[in-house]
Amino acid sequence: MLMPRREPIVNDKYITQVLRRERSEDDIWVREILDKARELKGLNQSDMIGLMAIESEPLLNELFSAARYVKNEIYGRRLVIFAPMYVSNLCKNECTYCAFRAKNKDIERRSLTQDEIARETLALISSGHKRVLLVAGESYPKQGFNYVLDAIDTIYSVREGSGEIRRVNVNVAPLTADEFLQLKERKIGTYQLFQETYNRKVYSQVHLAGKKADYNWRLSAIDRALEAGLNDVGIGVLFGLCDWRYEMLALKSHIEYLERRFGIGPHTVSVPRLEPASGSPMASRPPAPIDDKSFQKLVAILRLSVPYTGIIMSTRETPNIRRESFALGVSQISAGSRTNPGGYSEIQGDNGSQFSLGDHRSLDEVVRDVASMGYMPSFCTGCYRLGRVGADFMDMARPGDIRRHCDPNGISTFMEYLKDFASEETRRVGEQCIQNTMSQLDDEPRRISEKLLTRIHDGKRDVYC
Ligand code: SAM
Ligand code: SF4
Repeated sequence: MLMPRREPIVNDKYITQVLRRERSEDDIWVREILDKARELKGLNQSDMIGLMAIESEPLLNELFSAARYVKNEIYGRRLVIFAPMYVSNLCKNECTYCAFRAKNKDIERRSLTQDEIARETLALISSGHKRVLLVAGESYPKQGFNYVLDAIDTIYSVREGSGEIRRVNVNVAPLTADEFLQLKERKIGTYQLFQETYNRKVYSQVHLAGKKADYNWRLSAIDRALEAGLNDVGIGVLFGLCDWRYEMLALKSHIEYLERRFGIGPHTVSVPRLEPASGSPMASRPPAPIDDKSFQKLVAILRLSVPYTGIIMSTRETPNIRRESFALGVSQISAGSRTNPGGYSEIQGDNGSQFSLGDHRSLDEVVRDVASMGYMPSFCTGCYRLGRVGADFMDMARPGDIRRHCDPNGISTFMEYLKDFASEETRRVGEQCIQNTMSQLDDEPRRISEKLLTRIHDGKRDVYC
């Protein structure tokens, strides 16, 4: 039975107090924490404080090396690939950092019709995508929330040859319990919602009007989603609004709270950094900017703290930052993204976009780059379709069992992509990457991978274990 909620989700007093104390790096303590992290059991807030104080190059390298170890033990070389689909940029809120904010007159507004959503889906399918993250501002056309539900049905319904979208994740404003139930019935993958900042004072300074100005409504949304039976939820912070160290400790507090109350933490954590946005001057001058080095430190600490939670990095970041972050812990990336409704199927500029992208490359280029670095792009949707979600997924992920499935499924979906969608050059690099990955697998996953690959070569599609 579910525990009633009596405790605060974020232990703000403790976080504020510990951050007030000046703390310098302590190499003995840091090494103790890194040893603990290598046991793959995660870290607590106190451990995170020790790691956040690291400044010197040698200790930073030790932190990165521990993060690489943990990433490799749990995720191997796989990187899951997805694309966001922006269906509407209408919004009633006034988030000072976002181009979609209600008062911004600098962008064209539109909500895609269901036909237009089908065209966007077709464009994504034709480039080889299998996973879509549906995104919208907080104001729907006259159908209200049914607009989102219809959009999900539309995306799942489109087929092109052997191509289809097999998992729709959703990033829309907090919903009521009843709306979450309806979302569950649509068989979505992950419901994703970023708190933006966990700091109440900063939150109220940057969310000036609309429903989103209500901090508690947003913070409690993940509870409502889990109560409604959605199994996979994703949380995140918009870095740049408040001290990143505060946000990291608050994120951990939120995760521990969810684990205590629901017996399961988030499936993913996203780490967007504030990017310039048209008509939102604040986005170009973040109140708490975070430099690249601290950003990578943050990714590494997150990897060690919550080893079994996926870390998502979007095309907000440049190719270089993305490349360096794969090794440190990122396990899912978007590729070939557009952040304006209609951006995939229509030839137009980026008017109507939510923010500027750091990575403008096509899916084919990203896949080639990732594979040439020895990472294996995965389009797998096996777990979700076999019901390995929520607590079941975590039970299996924790002892490391999930790799028996993920490696073969990653390999077979990558081969499917290479055969059906890749350019010649990408196919060459990709097949080499698959060969190298297979040679490093244990006997059992290698045998399973070979079987799946034979089926793909025989013309079968969508095979997984
Ligand atoms: N409107 C809903 C909401 O705010 O929760 C969902 C979609 S919103 C378009 C998705 C996310 O975009 C926000 O949660 C926020 O973190 C991010 N975002 C907004 N403005 C941004 C900017 N200038 N740079 C980077 N990310 C931004
Ligand atoms: Fe609207 Fe979301 Fe942008 Fe805020 S972040 S203005 S709620 S789309």
